[in-house]
Amino acid sequence: MQPVAPGATGWSQIAWFMVLGMDLELLSTTLEELGEPGFRAAQVWEWTARGATGYDEMTNLPESLRAELAARVPFSTLELIDQAESRDGTVKALFHTEDGRPVESVMMRYRDGRRSICVSSQSGCPLTCTFCATGTMAFGRNLTTAEIIDQALFFRRIEPIDHCVFMGMGEPMMNLDNVLAACDLLPDVGVTNRRTTVSTVGWLPGIEQFNAQDRPVRLALSLHAADPTLRSKIMPVNDRYPLEDVLDACRKHWRETNRKVFIEYVMLAGVNDHTKHAKQLAAALTPHGAFKVNLIPYNPTGTGYDGSARTTIGSFRDTLLAAGVPATVRLTRGQDIAAACGQLVADKLQAAAVSEDDAVMTTAAT
Ligand code: SAH
Repeated sequence: MQPVAPGATGWSQIAWFMVLGMDLELLSTTLEELGEPGFRAAQVWEWTARGATGYDEMTNLPESLRAELAARVPFSTLELIDQAESRDGTVKALFHTEDGRPVESVMMRYRDGRRSICVSSQSGCPLTCTFCATGTMAFGRNLTTAEIIDQALFFRRIEPIDHCVFMGMGEPMMNLDNVLAACDLLPDVGVTNRRTTVSTVGWLPGIEQFNAQDRPVRLALSLHAADPTLRSKIMPVNDRYPLEDVLDACRKHWRETNRKVFIEYVMLAGVNDHTKHAKQLAAALTPHGAFKVNLIPYNPTGTGYDGSARTTIGSFRDTLLAAGVPATVRLTRGQDIAAACGQLVADKLQAAAVSEDDAVMTTAAT
């Protein structure tokens, strides 16, 4: 698939049709019925990508048309169900799709002005990583391109955004066509491909497809344990796609693009945080220049794991650095609003379990 470069050509030609993809027929019919010229759809997208909150703001559209569109073509594919703001400025949102599937997204605000959004690629996740709240939920389905970009547009309506990570619910490499189509639209919303990162458990066919396209999107691998037995225990996907094969695909990515692959390593107390684990990790990540490790303080989610102590994380990082592997400890954001992957839905399900009967709980979880 050829990349679309909206930045180079002005507003993406395909944008209006992708974003309103689910309502394309409706939009076309509506515009046609109203005898509107073809450029109207592009005008709608331009406003939407710049953070318009509805058709009524689109002042270069005739007022009667704005009213017609508002009545006949839904502005977003997602309905906001819940929103929370952390003391550190992190905003977390829970949406439902039109068929009632939960979708979570987060915006992190950093002191240097960066605004990074974390978006979901699936509702739920079929890969049952044992420490992840999303992994404990039922898998729903892949999100459409419109549902992915609508998460970004939600935050764009709050303020300008400039970074995006696919680290919300789901495995982006299992839905790569829609993820990449969303990457083609994100520059219009303010996020270039170079500031976009796709994170994977190591879903090999997806990484290979990712390597075969040429958008400068960054690649991140959730590694979490270099020892195969331990990795399979906490990430069952390791039995299907062994780490060594996955790392080979990551090395290929680095060789062909000269972009380092980020290694995500969530620090689980007493599980994967011993010095020997750091040494195993350093030995696996050759050549060192191909990778950069991000140590992630674990956000407890009721899955039975505890996060490693700060000092343990610090010495783990020092072991990696001493072995020549670039490593940093990720800032924790939004801990007071349960901003970790899948947590808002998991919390809601727990609340439902307390306040409702089992039938309601089942409906909410599927
Ligand atoms: N499926 C993809 C993308 C989604 S998860 C992947 O696994 O890479 C994004 C990252 O958040 C992963 O590295 C995941 O391991 C991590 N994560 C999941 N639950 C977490 C938690 N409770 N605290 C901290 N990180 C968590």
